[in-house]
Amino acid sequence: MSENVVIIGSGPAGWTAAIYTARANLRPLIFEGAVTAENQEKGTLPLGQLNLTTEVENYPGFPAGNLLQYLDSALPADKRAYMAPHTGHGISGPELMELMRQQAVNFGARVVTDDIVRVDFKTHPFKLFALSGELVQAKAVIVATGARANYLGLPSEDRFKNRGVSACAVCDGALPRFRDRPLIVVGGGDSAVEEATYLSKFASRVYLVHRRDSLRASKIMQDRLFANSKITVKWNRTLEEVLGNDEKGVTGARLKSTVDDQHEEIEVSGVFLAIGHTPNTSFLEGQLELTAKGYIKWTTPARTYTSVEGVFAAGDVADDYYRQAITAAGTGCMAALDAERWLASRGEH
Ligand code: NAP
Repeated sequence: MSENVVIIGSGPAGWTAAIYTARANLRPLIFEGAVTAENQEKGTLPLGQLNLTTEVENYPGFPAGNLLQYLDSALPADKRAYMAPHTGHGISGPELMELMRQQAVNFGARVVTDDIVRVDFKTHPFKLFALSGELVQAKAVIVATGARANYLGLPSEDRFKNRGVSACAVCDGALPRFRDRPLIVVGGGDSAVEEATYLSKFASRVYLVHRRDSLRASKIMQDRLFANSKITVKWNRTLEEVLGNDEKGVTGARLKSTVDDQHEEIEVSGVFLAIGHTPNTSFLEGQLELTAKGYIKWTTPARTYTSVEGVFAAGDVADDYYRQAITAAGTGCMAALDAERWLASRGEH
C-alpha cells in the first residue's frame, strides 16, 4: 500500500506540512529523524535546529509574556519535564517545536522516529528506504530535512569535539567546563552574535572571532553585542588551531590575522563554531536537482515544486537566503497545498 504523502524532516517546515496535510485528510506519515549518535554529532536530531536554540522572539503569535500555563496544559507531562525552564519571555525553540509536533499529531499525523537514508524518485509511487530497513511507498513526498551547522574542518577541531569544541552554544554552554571560563565564538552572523550573547551569561569572557572588520548580523543583535561588557570582538582573525590536551580538552586557541602575518594565542576552555550551515540532502543521492550551494532547487517561482513532479521541498533544505522559522513554516504550508493539489489533479485524493 502506498502512503498519500510522506514528509521527511521535523523542523517548522515539516510540522507545518504535516498539520496542513493531516487537516486535508491525507493521513501524512512523517519521518522525524532517528535518535543516533551520528545525528547527535552532526546536529541532525529530530525537531531540527530550533530545538538547539533558546528564546524565539520573532515567531509571530508568541509575544513576551507568561505562556507557562498554556504550555503546561498543552503538552504531555513527560515532554514538558524535559524542556529548559521558561523565562516568561516569548517562547523557546524546543517549546515551539514540541507544540508544532503535538499540533500535527492532534490532527492525525503519524510520526516515525527514523531517518530516510535513500530514495527512489524514478518510479511512482516513490520509494523511501529508512535506516531501520523499512521500505515506504508514497504518492507524494515533501522533503523538509533542513540544514546543519558547519565546522571549519581543522584536525584540532575534530580532536576536541565534545571536549570543548561545539557548534551549539545553547546545547553545551551551561556545562561546568565552560562556566566562569573564557570562551571563543567564531563567526560574524546572527548565530555567532546570538551565541556569544548567550554564552556571556556563563563565561568569564567571550571572544567573538570574525574574519572581517564588520559583522553580518542584524543591527539589533549587533547593538546588544556591543553593549555587553563581557564580549570582546577579535576583528580580522580566523581560528588557526584549537589548543589542548587529552586530560583537560580545550585549553586555548591560536588565531591568525586575515590582514597581516600576526598570530595570537589566547587561553580559552571552549570554542563555539557559528559559521553557517550545510543542507541535509546527501540521502537524495542526486535524484533531485540542487543549487550550486547544494540546496534543493525550487523549479517554479512561488511554488515548492522540485525537479521531480510529486516531490516538494520546504524550509531550509531549499532556502539558503531567508532561513527563518516562520519562512520554513510558510513554505511547509505551501508544500502541503502543492502536494494536495497535485494529488487531486491526478485523481489520487
Ligand atoms: P551566516 O549569516 O551565513 O553567517 C555565517 C558567518 O560565518 C559569517 O559572518 C561568515 O563570515 C562566517 N564564516 C563562514 N565561513 C567561515 C569560515 N570558513 N571561517 C570563518 N568565518 C566563516 O549564518 P548564521 O549566522 O548561521 O545565520 C543564518 C541565517 O539564520 C541568517 O539568515 C540569520 O539572519 C538567521 N538567524 C537569525 C537569528 C535571529 O534572528 N535570532 C539567529 C540566528 C540565525 P562573512 O561574514 O565574512 O561571510
